[in-house]
Amino acid sequence: MQKVNEFEWRNGMYLIPLHCHEGIINYIMKGDPIGGFLTAIVENDLMGAYSRADDINRNALGNYCTFLYNYAPANCHGSFDKRERWQASGGVTGRPCPRCEKPMGSGRICNCSSAKFR
Ligand SMILES: [Zn+2]
Repeated sequence: MQKVNEFEWRNGMYLIPLHCHEGIINYIMKGDPIGGFLTAIVENDLMGAYSRADDINRNALGNYCTFLYNYAPANCHGSFDKRERWQASGGVTGRPCPRCEKPMGSGRICNCSSAKFR
């Protein structure tokens, strides 16, 4: 199946158990910290995820795989390093621009600075 863009990932949220929606959404959008189970999930750590899962998540491991593979932004999951980079860069929204403090988005370039140098 083809990968959807970084905003259409929300179409896959039906796959995620409700009690993990907030954690997943804030992680993808802003790179917010996540708990041990979700950390293992996005780091591609099957044994870690299984051992930390509650009953609902244990039964939904396949759904998480489908969500990550078919819907989630490619850079937000797959390894420890990818998880670290995703969180450090502020997710889809991006970190605030050092000049105007608006979120810089996935392009990591702010319009305020490009306007200045035009
Ligand atoms: Zn700016």
